[in-house]
Amino acid sequence: MDKYEKVIELAKRRGFLWNSFELYGGAAGFYDYGPLGSTLKRRIEHIWRELYIIHEGFMEIETPTIGIEEVFVASGHVSGFSDPLCECRKCGEAFRADHLVDNMIDVADALSNTELDILIKDNDIKCPECGGDLGDAYEFNLMFRTAIGPGSGRAGYMRPETAQGMFINFQRLSKFYRDKLPFGVTQIGKSYRNEISPRQGVIRLREFTQAEAEIFINPHNKTHPNFERFSGTLVNLYSEDGQERGTIEQITIGDAVKQGIIAHEYLAYHIALTNHFLWRVGISPDHLRFRQHKKDEMAHYAIDCWDAEIETDRFGWIEVVGIADRTDYDLNAHAKTSKTELYVYIEYDEPKMVTNFVVKPDMGKLGPAFKGKAKSVANVLKDMTREELEQDVIKVIVNGEEFIVSPDLVKFTEERVKVSGENVVPHVIEPSFGIDRILYCTMEHAFNEEMVAAQEETGSNKSKDPKKEKRIIFKLKSEIAPVQVAVLPLMTKSELIEPANKIVAVIRDRGLLVSYDDSGTIGRRYRRNDEIGTPYSITIDYESLDDKSVTIRDRDSMDQVRTPIENIGNLIYELVYGEREFKNAGVPV
Ligand code: AMP
Repeated sequence: MDKYEKVIELAKRRGFLWNSFELYGGAAGFYDYGPLGSTLKRRIEHIWRELYIIHEGFMEIETPTIGIEEVFVASGHVSGFSDPLCECRKCGEAFRADHLVDNMIDVADALSNTELDILIKDNDIKCPECGGDLGDAYEFNLMFRTAIGPGSGRAGYMRPETAQGMFINFQRLSKFYRDKLPFGVTQIGKSYRNEISPRQGVIRLREFTQAEAEIFINPHNKTHPNFERFSGTLVNLYSEDGQERGTIEQITIGDAVKQGIIAHEYLAYHIALTNHFLWRVGISPDHLRFRQHKKDEMAHYAIDCWDAEIETDRFGWIEVVGIADRTDYDLNAHAKTSKTELYVYIEYDEPKMVTNFVVKPDMGKLGPAFKGKAKSVANVLKDMTREELEQDVIKVIVNGEEFIVSPDLVKFTEERVKVSGENVVPHVIEPSFGIDRILYCTMEHAFNEEMVAAQEETGSNKSKDPKKEKRIIFKLKSEIAPVQVAVLPLMTKSELIEPANKIVAVIRDRGLLVSYDDSGTIGRRYRRNDEIGTPYSITIDYESLDDKSVTIRDRDSMDQVRTPIENIGNLIYELVYGEREFKNAGVPV
């Protein structure tokens, strides 16, 4: 079993992840979160909300997961959100054409379909399933199409990202934030992509959760007011140059901006914040890097894009977050399609004097000359440049009809005026997190097996050597562990069960998730909790009845301390949320 299999085996057995629709044979690309998995997911999302909503102040909104066609026409998803599909001529199995040549070329997803066909033919690549010949690659749109309403209905799509719901609410959001840049908005929710061949288990899903922030900033000022917070933070950067050389560079965020590796402070700040979040949820920094999009892979409108990538045992480096400066592309696209101007008025620090070119059509003369069309002709004239107006005859086109205007029918002057601001279309910084992939990575990085002395009698999991046994531990950060503490009466005797239940109630009152377990040997119960990542276990024994104390066991070190029952709720809370170290939780046993 490789690590992926071990993690998934444990995840299925203990109620983290289950194949969806298992009863009916399952379907690739869908996973259910069991009781522990959905709690783990909520805890990861909770930390994300703490960082982005509470600390950054980017309020959360919730928009429909189904979108009308206009939205995705404007965003470009209807015409361009596709992957190259290649079908086997013999067995009919479908494959991502770029994945078939992935190991031959650096950025296979930047190749055209013709280039992919040539590579597949030249290298004699056959169907990985049956060895049959492969057909030509063609574009397959990844959106799930649906109809809104009965009959053929109005065309709709399951959203492929949460972002569009935020862009199309720009005007409302701008008002909400009193038209002051920068402002940010977030959304956590399901996104849907009809992935061609999701063979990578939980990594490539057809329904998954995204946590996205859209931060609208002044395009003329991409410095970050809080940049100092992260300027000394070290990150692993796999820049475009680094990819050429094959080196990942550890560098501070401040230096990366100074050296022009990251385009500007705003983007760099959000790379650092992503780094911070991934560290908070337990991603090991040695297996995390930020990879810059190469010029030929980056969207044409973007200024700079970085993917947070995490190293996994089976799949290598996988993208978990995309962080991009998307410029004004999305707002302009929606402005154009919806025929609504989307901008913010920005007041200058100091008013500026500017020279305006003012055109004054002479209506007294235009009227008799052009009758009913005079007003339309005048409107076109008003938008013309000095060069266009300084001709012997001025040509004006109104609705395709040409009019010749004599220069004496229009006057123009230059006026000096004071302006105190301008309308600008904000640029957008977008960090886009894939929660499911992050969750899987936290599990993989937390998964540990060790051989330990069998002093803690378990009765199961015993190795051949009677003195040693295998211990599986999910070393999840205590903050994200689904069950935060286990309460274990040493024996199933009422005199121990009663105080144990009281302790459970007290800890629940502190808002912590407790599991009560009184079945099996104490060692076996410890192992059960180690396996699901419960960071602390409390044991109530006969001595507890006299000394009003309990034993707390730390999952990772297996160290134990004795501590009074009196303050147990607060103590466990402090341990779980990192406000107290275990060594200060009581007297070592
Ligand atoms: P993208 O919009 O493609 O940049 O995706 C943003 C993030 O969503 C990625 O970094 C992934 O973490 C996640 N993601 C994208 N596609 C999938 C998928 N099919 N299954 C799971 N997560 C995904």
